[in-house]
Amino acid sequence: MKTERPDPKAAADPPAKRPPRRSREVVIRGIAVAPGIAIGEVFDTSEPPAEAPRRAIEAGAVDAEKQRLATAVAASRKQVAKLKTRLGVLPEEAQEELEPLLDAYALMLGDSRLIRGARKRIENELLAAETAVADEAEAIAEVILSARDDDKAGLRRRAGEVREIARRLTRNLTQNPFRSFKDVPEGAILVAVELTPADAALLDPARIAGVAAEEGGADGHTAIMLRALGIPAVLGAPGLTEAARRGDPAVLDGAAGSIALHPTTVTLGHAKDQIAAYARERQRLGKLRRLPAVTTDGEQVELLANLEIPAELPLIAQAGAQGIGLLRSEFLFMNREDLPDEDDQFAAYHPIVEAMNGDPVTIRVLDWGGEKDMEALAAGVETHHASANPALGLRGIRMLLKRPELLEAQFAAILRIAARAPEGAVRVMLPMVTVPEEVKAARDIYDRVARRLRRRGEKVPEKLPELGAMIETPGAALAADAIALEADFFAIGTNDLAMYTLAVDRGDAEVAHLYDPLHPAVLRLVQFSTEAALRLRMPVSICGEMAGNPALVPLLLGLGIRSLSMNAGAIPRVKQAVRALDIGDCARFARRVMEQSDPARIRELVDGFAAGVTERG
Ligand code: PEP
Ligand code: MG
Repeated sequence: MKTERPDPKAAADPPAKRPPRRSREVVIRGIAVAPGIAIGEVFDTSEPPAEAPRRAIEAGAVDAEKQRLATAVAASRKQVAKLKTRLGVLPEEAQEELEPLLDAYALMLGDSRLIRGARKRIENELLAAETAVADEAEAIAEVILSARDDDKAGLRRRAGEVREIARRLTRNLTQNPFRSFKDVPEGAILVAVELTPADAALLDPARIAGVAAEEGGADGHTAIMLRALGIPAVLGAPGLTEAARRGDPAVLDGAAGSIALHPTTVTLGHAKDQIAAYARERQRLGKLRRLPAVTTDGEQVELLANLEIPAELPLIAQAGAQGIGLLRSEFLFMNREDLPDEDDQFAAYHPIVEAMNGDPVTIRVLDWGGEKDMEALAAGVETHHASANPALGLRGIRMLLKRPELLEAQFAAILRIAARAPEGAVRVMLPMVTVPEEVKAARDIYDRVARRLRRRGEKVPEKLPELGAMIETPGAALAADAIALEADFFAIGTNDLAMYTLAVDRGDAEVAHLYDPLHPAVLRLVQFSTEAALRLRMPVSICGEMAGNPALVPLLLGLGIRSLSMNAGAIPRVKQAVRALDIGDCARFARRVMEQSDPARIRELVDGFAAGVTERG
C-alpha cells in the first residue's frame, strides 16, 4: 500500500490554530467495485513517520548508498508530482492550501540543501541514507527555528515542511512491502491512496467493514480480490485521502461508488435500510443454491467460481458453484520473501481440490508480471528485467517459459494432486498466451515433468489433466483457431482482453472511463475465439469479470458460451438470470448487439434487455 498524502498538519500551525474538524457531510465519489454498505469510522492508513533505526555503512558501500538515496528522491518526486495532478478535483480552499506546499516539497527534492547535505553525510560520516536524511533535515529545521523572525508560526511551518519531506524520503528508503492490517480497529472503513492485490490478500473481511482508495479501477486485481472477499469497496476516488481523517464517521456504498464522510442522520438511516435490504436479498438468493442453472428451454449452463485465496472456499460452497473455473495461483507467491517449492504448492492446492470433492478445479499457473508485479514476488525472483511497459513485457506464460523451473515445480505439484483426485477433477491453464508455440512449449515441459515424476516413483495420472489456454490478448483471440489446435480448452479472460484491446490499464483510475468490455472490439474478439473453440467442439468458458454480471448473461449465452466462472458472490444472481432466459431469445439478442458499432448503443441494448427480463421474470 502506498500512502502518498502529504500531511498538511505536520507543516501547519500549532494545534491551537488548526481549523476545527469539519462536521458537514462530504460525499466523495469513485468507482463502484464491490457491492454492500459499510457504516464505520475511517481508518486512514497514512503511516506515522517511519522511525528508521540509525545505521552506519562501510566505506565501500558509499556509492550504493548514494544510489539508494537517488532512487528514493526520484520516487518521492514522482509521488509529489502525481499529487499535484490530483489537485484539480479538490475544493478550492484545499487547493489553495496544498499547492504551495507541494511546490515547496518539489523544490526540496531538487538540488536542495537537504539532498546535497544528505549526500555529504553519506560520504563523510559513512551514514546510511535514511540516517543521513534525518540528520540533515533536523539540522536544517534547527537553523530555521532559531532564525530571528517574528513570524514564529511561519518558521515552524517551514521547519515542518523539511521534516515532512525527510519522512517521505525515509518511507521510500525503508519501504516494507509486507504490511499487516492487524491494527485496523474492528468495523473500520480502510482508506488508502492505493491498495495492492498483495495488501488486499491480507484483509480480514470479518474485521474490515469497507475499503476505499484513491487509485484502482473496477477490474484491476485489487478490485477482484475485494469482491471475492465480499468487502464493500470503492476505488478510484480522487480527493479521498485529503478529505478523510482517521476516526471520521463514514458510510461507504460499494454499489453506488460513494463514501459519505460525517454522514447526516438521513444518510445513516438510508444506509441502515439498505443493509437490511441486502440481508433480505441474500436470504432470497440463498434459496437458489440447490436449483440448477438451466434456461427456460432446458439449456444447462455451468456456473463456476474464481478463487484468489483459499479463505474463499466456504463462500464457494455456499454459492453452489459447480467447480472452480479459475484458481489464481498468485496468492501463494504474495507477501513472502522466498518462492514456494513443489511441496509448498502441493500443500496449498491439494486441500482446495479435496474440498471441491471431485468437482473440476482449474489451476492457472502463475500469472506474474504486468499489474501483478508484486514486490513480494519480485524479492524471490530475480529477472533482472525492467520493462518500460510491464503489461507488455515478461508476464504470465512468457515469464514461465523463461524461468521453466518455476513452471516445472508448479506442474509437478499439480500432477501429484491430480493423481490423488478423480479423473477430470483437475485442469491446468496457461495465462497470457499469444502464440500457439507457447502452448506447445508448455506442453513439452508438462510431459517432461510427468515423465520425471514417474521416474521418481510418484503416481501420475495415465491421462494427464487437460491443459488449456487463456484467451486474454487480442493476438490470442485473433489466432484462436491456431491456438485451439494446441490447447485442450479455452478460458476467455475478458479483463485483460479489454485492457489490451482498448489500450486501457485496467487498474488505472485515470482511464477507468475508457475501460469497457462492451466495446464492440472486445465483443468481436470474444465472439471470434468462442466460435473457434465451438467449431472444434472444444470447451470454452469466460472467467473475466464480465461472467459475473447478470446483465451480460443473455449476450454471452447468445454468443454460444455455456460456462461462466466468476467470484462466488455473483453466482446466485447470475443463476437467477440464467433461469429466466430462453436461448433462442439470447441468440437473437446477441446477433442484434453484434451488428452495432457504438459502445453506448450496445450498453443501451444490454440494459434494455436486462430490464425486460426483470419485468418478464
Ligand atoms: C482476465 O484477464 O480476464 C482474467 C480472468 O485473468 P486475471 O484477471 O487474473 O488477469
Ligand atoms: Mg488475465
